[in-house]
Amino acid sequence: MNLLKGLLEEVHQVHPTFPLEPIEQAYHLATKCHGDQTRKSGEPYIIHPVEVVRILLKMNLDLPSLLAGILHDTVEDTFLSLADIERDFGKEVAFLVDGVTKLSKLSFHSKHQAQAENFRKMILAMGKDIRVILIKLADRLHNMRTLQFMNPEKQIEISEETIEIYAPLAHRLGIHWIKTELEDLCLRYQKPDVYFKLVQLVSKSRKSREKYIEDVLALLKDEMHKVGFVNYEITGRPKNFYSIYKKMEKSAVSFEQVHDLIAFRIVCEDIRGCYQALGLVHSMWKPVPGRFKDYIAMPKANLYQSLHTTIVGPLGERMEIQIRTKEMHDIAELGIAAHWTYKKDGSVEQKDIQKFSWIRKLVEDQEDVKDSSEFLKTLKIDLFEEEVFVFTPKGDVFALPKGACPVDFAYAIHSKVGDSCVGAKVNGRIVPLREKLKSGDEVEIITSEAQSPRKDWLDFIVTSRARSKIRGLVKKEQRERARELGTKLLEREFRRAKLNLTKLSKDKRLEELAPKAGASGEEDLLIKIGYGKLLALDVAKIYAKELGVDGIDEDSDAGIEDSKDDKETTFIQKMFKKAREKKGAAPVRVQGMDHMLIRFAKCCNPIPGEPIIGFVSRGRGISVHSSNCEKSLAFDPARKVEIDWVAGETEEFRAGIRVSAEDQPGILAQVTKAISNLEGNITQANVATTRDKKAVISLEVVVKNLPQLHTLIKNIEKISGVITAERSRI
Ligand code: MN
Repeated sequence: MNLLKGLLEEVHQVHPTFPLEPIEQAYHLATKCHGDQTRKSGEPYIIHPVEVVRILLKMNLDLPSLLAGILHDTVEDTFLSLADIERDFGKEVAFLVDGVTKLSKLSFHSKHQAQAENFRKMILAMGKDIRVILIKLADRLHNMRTLQFMNPEKQIEISEETIEIYAPLAHRLGIHWIKTELEDLCLRYQKPDVYFKLVQLVSKSRKSREKYIEDVLALLKDEMHKVGFVNYEITGRPKNFYSIYKKMEKSAVSFEQVHDLIAFRIVCEDIRGCYQALGLVHSMWKPVPGRFKDYIAMPKANLYQSLHTTIVGPLGERMEIQIRTKEMHDIAELGIAAHWTYKKDGSVEQKDIQKFSWIRKLVEDQEDVKDSSEFLKTLKIDLFEEEVFVFTPKGDVFALPKGACPVDFAYAIHSKVGDSCVGAKVNGRIVPLREKLKSGDEVEIITSEAQSPRKDWLDFIVTSRARSKIRGLVKKEQRERARELGTKLLEREFRRAKLNLTKLSKDKRLEELAPKAGASGEEDLLIKIGYGKLLALDVAKIYAKELGVDGIDEDSDAGIEDSKDDKETTFIQKMFKKAREKKGAAPVRVQGMDHMLIRFAKCCNPIPGEPIIGFVSRGRGISVHSSNCEKSLAFDPARKVEIDWVAGETEEFRAGIRVSAEDQPGILAQVTKAISNLEGNITQANVATTRDKKAVISLEVVVKNLPQLHTLIKNIEKISGVITAERSRI
């Protein structure tokens, strides 16, 4: 109970207008939910959320954030659901808790430094609401403060993540005190020897340092008094351990050689005062050239404003002084929350939270970004809405444009991975390659040597990198296939004409005579035949004539037997074999080719009598589409072949019929009777009733040809109660 009382008192002190009942209510709920859970320290779990709220108070957050802070671990760790929270505390609090829960599931474990930037962006993108990120920072800060209870491996792991991700985030959001505290805590676990040595050195030199600070402050105050400064504040304190360590590391110097251990700060009443104070400081001590920075005239991207100067101090050592107004100081300490204005009920003006365009400027301190052009590019396309950030199984993070699918991801990793990608697992689950990725997804690409880029990927990929790679390879591969197919087709016709393709090719005769057949050379000739632009039979006739061979015995199958000699069983031979085994041959005839393997496209299921078109496809012969099939439009026209139905066939075809009728008894029976009367077979029937008392009957029938299907449909339409009947997709 004391814990709650202390918390409520603290809230009231910082925000006297905030209502305390909801905080009390949230506290009781969290206590109940966490039950007898304990922290690693052995303390009751509730200590943690309460500490998080105290940090949030220091960060100047609004009431919904404080409530979300108390409840931030409940959904993840207990039986409480988001719906429960929404019911008791409203949508906003539930939304914040949900955001924090999602972020908590991410963990950064890439060993590549460069990945940290993407991970930070991912957190920002997933946070959606800046308060989610601030609560997450508070959560992390308390976890870092209590890290001593974790095992050593965890300590290292969490410190690494904190120094790479969360400390820079705090910096970018301008929350200086969280940044420095996180940095020092990380140093303690990452470099304990350095850290404890520094603690020792700093405390050992404390006495002399305090004296030094006192002297400097006295000197400054004296001078400021003389020129008439009234409202100002001067402080001097040691820099944080991490920045001392960084300085030692960067300049390769020992602790004793780090002179500006102390940061002096003058907080003035207004900007004019700041510049006056600067002038005064520079008149008292010699400024170090090149160290003066005017962040008042030119604020940092995180809105930090201050004058920085380094001077040669009274003892001949370097001394850093920051000069700023009170308002600038608040911004430097609180970051973005310093700009918030509160309403009576403890909430923040929505416009303050939703100003993402403004927050975006805070997100990055351009000084930190090595490749600033890249950064500006990402900023231009809205960072929060136009990108998704996904993990590799190793923990690397990739930034992809919104709408990206596993194929885009595969190409982002490496073009070889993209080329051979056959499937993908997202968060351990197999997904279609066209699935849209979401920020935080872990994506694993399944590859196969046998795979090659597919043209239909172009329908759903979004990155230009993937697009150009796929286009290039598809084109190349199509040419190769066409060449292969053309060779086989021509070989066959040459055999009939008693010409030897291999020999003619070797003798360069094939090349020489190609223009006679309408091609620029051998390669072009074979490709044109493969694409169906030239007919193998015509080409063979031309060559036979040119080479003075007798011509072609069109009825003879002579030469085909020779193919047994070919060890290689190529797909085209298989096609012929299959077609011959079927004897009667396919019910469609391909112009210039008999005995082709025919396959009816599943998308449109063409039926004898309707106009059709064929497409050459490797290993599967020719696929037959209805000529108005939408899908067939997408095919490369070069692979198109003219085909026609052969009359008098006895094959059977499936077709769909969609009947809409009044919902009356016996209607289905009447429809099926109409079909069987005409010797049509029903393979499937489905009835659905609509809200306005109509029945929709979906049928799949087997018919011999298009006229039969048309008669069927006409007869169904005649049934009383039937409104319409039409052919449909299966
Ligand atoms: Mn937590």
